[in-house]
Amino acid sequence: MNAELVCKLVQVRSAALERRFSLGVMATTQQTFPDPRPVDLPTGFNAWLLDCSPVSGCKVCQANWRQLRAAEDDGDTGKAARHATEIRDHASGVH
Ligand SMILES: [Zn+2]
Repeated sequence: MNAELVCKLVQVRSAALERRFSLGVMATTQQTFPDPRPVDLPTGFNAWLLDCSPVSGCKVCQANWRQLRAAEDDGDTGKAARHATEIRDHASGVH
């Protein structure tokens, strides 16, 4: 590889790094709204949150199970977790 080519490659690479850096700065200084991307929870955390077993023959459990699945499909983990809590409440006699 000759010196001129190496020089050209270094220039291209530093220009790319500079562009990436300035984009990063823009993203951190211009963002004034909450990040719309979902928060990545540790693997298995959602499974633990939504862990429940609806009692067959219990209408409250079945209704909550359907709503849990719908909320999960919508990506609304908080809502799904509330339905999971209601299903778990069956064992303690809340419903
Ligand atoms: Zn129930």
